[in-house]
Amino acid sequence: MKIICVGWNYPLHNKEMQRALVTEEPTLFMKPDSALLKDGKPFYLPDFAERFEYEGELVVRICRLGKDISEKFASRYYDAVTVGVDMTARDLQARLRAAGQPWELAKAFDNSAIIGDFIPVAELETPLSEGIDFRLDLNGETVQRGNSREMTHSIDRIIAYASRYFTLKMGDLIFTGTPAGVGAVKINDRLQGYLADREVLDFSIR
Ligand code: MN
Repeated sequence: MKIICVGWNYPLHNKEMQRALVTEEPTLFMKPDSALLKDGKPFYLPDFAERFEYEGELVVRICRLGKDISEKFASRYYDAVTVGVDMTARDLQARLRAAGQPWELAKAFDNSAIIGDFIPVAELETPLSEGIDFRLDLNGETVQRGNSREMTHSIDRIIAYASRYFTLKMGDLIFTGTPAGVGAVKINDRLQGYLADREVLDFSIR
């Protein structure tokens, strides 16, 4: 099982990070299966960096094998969605970037891919492609809001693009990028993620 992540997929987040607002092609990176953290388990702050930031994101689950999937048929390849956190060691990422090195140490470490409970797409009131609201709350205050309509590269386009390079398999996950509002976490913070108004994610920082 693999985890494919998209960077720079919401213009307002790109702006807060002082990046180009729109990318021509999706920016992809991967996390290994050892990065997965689920079932509301706490995230323990690692000791290899100082600043860990939440990135709340829509996460889709792949439900069939696919390679070179056309965008037109991409929606057949995922069957469930949730809210997750792409936990990022921001100070380490900055050092790696300055040294021209890959992001993995700052993005793909153990427990960095935090996921909530999956909701079958068939249960959604509006199809994902028509836009679904999600949000992330930190200690009861909303810090990030997004809608899948605001993505630069749609979920279907991401699936088509990623499957040119990587065979998608049942159970693979795609983190689809974070909207504006990322920020640091500290011990005893509580993060809750909502899909529309339904709570799907709830975990603490330890
Ligand atoms: Mn991210």
